[in-house]
Amino acid sequence: MVCSRCKTRPVIKLPNSAVSLCKSCFIKYFEKKVRRTIREYNMITKGEVIAVGVSGGKDSLTTLHILNQIVKQQRTTKILAIAINEGIHGYRDKTLDNAVKYCDKNGIKLHIYSFEEEFGYSLDKAIKKLKLNPCSICGVFRRYLLNQKAKELKVDKLATGHNLDDEAQSIIMNFFKNSTETSARLGPVTGIKLDKGFIQRVKPLYFLTEKEVMTYAFLKGLNEELNECPYATESLRNDVKEMLNEFNIKYPATKYSVINSFLDILPLLKEKYKNNKLKYCKYCGEPASNETCQACEYVGMLK
Ligand code: SF4
Ligand SMILES: [Zn+2]
Ligand SMILES: [Zn+2]
Repeated sequence: MVCSRCKTRPVIKLPNSAVSLCKSCFIKYFEKKVRRTIREYNMITKGEVIAVGVSGGKDSLTTLHILNQIVKQQRTTKILAIAINEGIHGYRDKTLDNAVKYCDKNGIKLHIYSFEEEFGYSLDKAIKKLKLNPCSICGVFRRYLLNQKAKELKVDKLATGHNLDDEAQSIIMNFFKNSTETSARLGPVTGIKLDKGFIQRVKPLYFLTEKEVMTYAFLKGLNEELNECPYATESLRNDVKEMLNEFNIKYPATKYSVINSFLDILPLLKEKYKNNKLKYCKYCGEPASNETCQACEYVGMLK
């Protein structure tokens, strides 16, 4: 087998395609696809301040790396990084080390916030007390802090490392949970309409699979260790991920089909929910579906 473009030794066969690429052709292909996504969905406008949510894993460091390249060329756009330390012993400390090292080396200001300092409990301690699924608490607290801190730091957009596999899983999970309104907020640029309470999230890796992101991060030396959260296997996401991977082996276009059919119906979903009034939490003022936001609900339960 040879690279479909330059006939040298390939490093990857692209998903759902007969194309194989060598290291240099793959990096060009990958970066071009990210830039095209950013352009098509107007993810960055000159002069904006972009925060990248980093965990130190392959997806977030890849996003930070490519956005940093783009920002250096644009000059007027600024970039910073926000990391959340959930307090997962033996896992997050390691990945955060990667984020600190990358940001130090590349002169990017990194702001780190922890569940322990902000909510009084690390995730490890919170789940012992609440006996809830770790990912439910983790997701709520992390989204809450990212949005709140991004507002405090006065950023215009928050870029995340979500890839095509993550998004396909979220779409299926929302169908399984009958949460179509939550799905209306997904997509390459999140949100149903602009709201002062929400910092808009953008996902530059939206059209790249997990395998492609992993290959790029490895080839660029961004994340050589494969760390997995010890709680990952307890989640619905993990079951959906395994199901989609199994389907994808048998029917290789599955994940692309989920994404493409979702993007077809997304405008209809946004239209359906556009007049739903967003509430603000009576305790903290953050956007909420009820009178109290889910983060304040959990904090109340922890007291
Ligand atoms: S797998 Fe669950 S607990 Fe672990 S970091 Fe992800 S959301 Fe948090
Ligand atoms: Zn090549
Ligand atoms: Zn609240």
